[in-house]
Amino acid sequence: MFQNIPLSRPDINEQDINLVNNVLRSGKLVQGEYVSKLEEEFKNSHGSSHAIVVSNATAALHLSLKILGIKEGDEVIVPAFSYIATANVVELVGATPIFVDINETTFNLNAELLTRNITNRTKAVIPVHEFGLACDIKRICEIAGSYKLPVIEDAACSLGAKQNDKHTGTFGKIGCFSLHPRKSITSGEGGVIITNEEIIAKKFFQLRNHGISTISGKIDFVDAGYNYRLTDFQAALAFSQFKRLDAILEYKKMLADIYLREITNPKILMPQVPKDRNHTWQTFHVLLDETLDQFTVIEQLKQYGIETNIGAQCIPAQTYFRNKYTLNASKLFPNAWKAYTKGLALPLHTKLNETDVLSVAQLLNKL
Ligand SMILES: *Cc1c(COP(=O)(O)O)cnc(C)c1O
Repeated sequence: MFQNIPLSRPDINEQDINLVNNVLRSGKLVQGEYVSKLEEEFKNSHGSSHAIVVSNATAALHLSLKILGIKEGDEVIVPAFSYIATANVVELVGATPIFVDINETTFNLNAELLTRNITNRTKAVIPVHEFGLACDIKRICEIAGSYKLPVIEDAACSLGAKQNDKHTGTFGKIGCFSLHPRKSITSGEGGVIITNEEIIAKKFFQLRNHGISTISGKIDFVDAGYNYRLTDFQAALAFSQFKRLDAILEYKKMLADIYLREITNPKILMPQVPKDRNHTWQTFHVLLDETLDQFTVIEQLKQYGIETNIGAQCIPAQTYFRNKYTLNASKLFPNAWKAYTKGLALPLHTKLNETDVLSVAQLLNKL
């Protein structure tokens, strides 16, 4: 039976649309009240001293590296399996990404591999909370801290995720979130930075807006900054959705539990959630065994109207990084390679119901 089950859909309701329309009618499209209101929401919900809204999470990560003074000759540790942006930002400041393999069942950076990859050129660590599950950020911060290395959390897809009841994004020096439509709440494009450090926060505000300073009462430009601002109608969309975040995450958990219970095919390895963490299921990601071919499965499910896809990339195997660093990715990062070549992201969002998810599970059981 042909169905229409897309991989991902944003959760947008009439209330969201009305609020966006109100901003459009007001004529105040940038640097208006909803950027500040969204910053307040992130501050309050995370108990952090500062929040800075920017145009996307890649901009947030890029500014983080800039502000920490990371430059050519420096090394930054990143997981070998993530969205490409995590490593691209290291290239953008001229530094070298040092790839570290992931854990096979959580798809997150393997903290035990961290120490052996730290050199006297290492200047930061960017752990990722992949697919909405917190990595072992507590352990990663302990290790990085013992070398006095700052941690920039790539929490782009982990809004609401926690380890030991502490929010992702609040463990490191800086936390970066994305509001892209594939994430739990969205502003279209959008990103948010949180930090407890005032000096750093001031630099974020400055650099997102061309290097502006108004401290002396007049406008001055004290740095060569960027335009990484978000429009106010975009901020209004995320602000409106933020109020439903818990409900969205709860609904997705209910659907994810159906996958966890109903997918019983031994050829499909299910994701594992460590006991000290909650999964926010930004992506429901499974592994196919050696008998199943990733692209064949994607095509097979497409015949039934079910959209699936690769979850994330083995970054050192992408053409740019492969040409530049010539790392033998499948050998050096076996788990990242496996997640890249055997991983499958399943449809999971608030526009699906129990029956939809059940039918996906049943088709997967027939593979
Ligand atoms: C989505 C995502 C990004 C990029 O976020 P943008 O807002 O699209 O720039 C970076 N890292 C990870 C892990 C992501 O999932």
